Amino acid sequence: MKRKEKKCNLCPRSQAKEDKDMAKKVLNCRDIDVNSDCKKKFSGYNEGEVLMKTIQHIMWDRKVEKITPELKDKIRSLIEDES
Ligand SMILES: [Zn+2]
Repeated sequence: MKRKEKKCNLCPRSQAKEDKDMAKKVLNCRDIDVNSDCKKKFSGYNEGEVLMKTIQHIMWDRKVEKITPELKDKIRSLIEDES
């Protein structure tokens, strides 16, 4: 007996394109510290993602142990939309 394949109209295949429509957020490491010649650039689909990547970089690569709320605010303010 042949089984009829059930088609599911409820499973959207369009989920993946969601991200595409959003503007990317970017931040240049150099903007945080103008004295640094770091060429790293962080990007993400939202502020939180960029902030997280930036903090990780600062802590690991620049050996900053404590991320103060002030520094976080500064980083946040430097995040811009990718053009
Ligand atoms: Zn850097």
